[in-house]
Amino acid sequence: MKVNKNYANLKESYLFATIGKKVREYTAANPDKSVIRMGIGDVTRPLAPAVIGAMQKAVSEMGVAETFRGYGDDYGYDFLRTAISDYYNKKGAEISSAEVFVSDGAKSDVANILDIFASGNTVLVPDPVYPVYVDTNIMAGNKIVYASGNIENNFLPMPDENVQADIIYICSPNNPTGAVYSAEQLKKWVDYATAQNAVILYDSAYEAFICEDLPTSIFQIEGAKNCAIEFGSLSKSAGFTGTRCAYTIVPTELERDGMNLHKLWSRRQNTKYNQLPYIIQRGAEAALLPEGLAQSKTDIDYYMQNAKTISDAISELGIWFSGGKNAPYVWLKCPNNLKSWDFFDLLLEKANVVGTPGAGFGSQGEGFLRLSAFANHENTVLAMKRVKDILG
Ligand code: PLP
Repeated sequence: MKVNKNYANLKESYLFATIGKKVREYTAANPDKSVIRMGIGDVTRPLAPAVIGAMQKAVSEMGVAETFRGYGDDYGYDFLRTAISDYYNKKGAEISSAEVFVSDGAKSDVANILDIFASGNTVLVPDPVYPVYVDTNIMAGNKIVYASGNIENNFLPMPDENVQADIIYICSPNNPTGAVYSAEQLKKWVDYATAQNAVILYDSAYEAFICEDLPTSIFQIEGAKNCAIEFGSLSKSAGFTGTRCAYTIVPTELERDGMNLHKLWSRRQNTKYNQLPYIIQRGAEAALLPEGLAQSKTDIDYYMQNAKTISDAISELGIWFSGGKNAPYVWLKCPNNLKSWDFFDLLLEKANVVGTPGAGFGSQGEGFLRLSAFANHENTVLAMKRVKDILG
């Protein structure tokens, strides 16, 4: 027998394990210090009352024979697929409910989507970025080429016509840099993908944090329905990181290599996946209806207040940064040309603040650090005061 030897090509993922180990060692040696964690990418605010109410009602329905539900619809209940397509239509992206596939996570879907593509494709991945794209393509045996983000391009790499690609990942707002593409920039990516006969895999997990007039979906861009698949998630927008609900939008007209990708993904999902619980789908529907959206907006505003506290402090220090305006992350250049991990150590030991070393998100992340806006507000204010005290 043979195993998938591509797994041997994966780099060990030390990032969060090493952060955890360093913080544990520091707090054990310094029990009197209060360490503030600004490294996490997980939400902290509870689910909205409208979501809880809908899930409680659904739990009761499950205990009554007339309203009990067993296996759900293959691609998600119609009520949720419609709530998602309505959410898109309201922002000018024409999506039908039939194009929406409900799932348990954008993480699983960005990985699972590779099932419908042959192994050996050339895949263009931004650097730095959410590490799942790189690792899943290594597992699949694909060839990875990188689109470098840097200070010159504000961590928004643009297409290079001399680079050939079959699959293109775009993450906007980006994790970890918080950078967001404009409509003009996304149009260039759509035109490039169309010319290359490539498919864009567009991750919009942080779209709800966009406050300025910037695209929140690739499907707001002309021509995208012929070249893109979008992954959305309620994890960050509605606090569903533990509850789980996401969705993938595959346009019905999307074809490549003589095959319809919507049909391939339908087939993949009904063969390998049995959908989210009814209770969670009712909670997700409530999150996308006006009352739930208004309640989640309060939490997003809370996080964005933190993002402003962080970016104001970093800008007062005269340090280069991106993000913080339309994303819950601030991505900053380590002062004095420190390397990511050296600056991480300095912040931990001198300010008792934990960030995420940029080097963990790709080679272009070296020399940068990510601060997250998901901590509580008092701690965020205190953390920034400490950072200013040591760097000011
Ligand atoms: N996409 C990006 C860019 C992320 O940063 C994350 C989580 O941090 C995810 C997807 C995961 O989303 P989900 O919780 O829906 O699996």
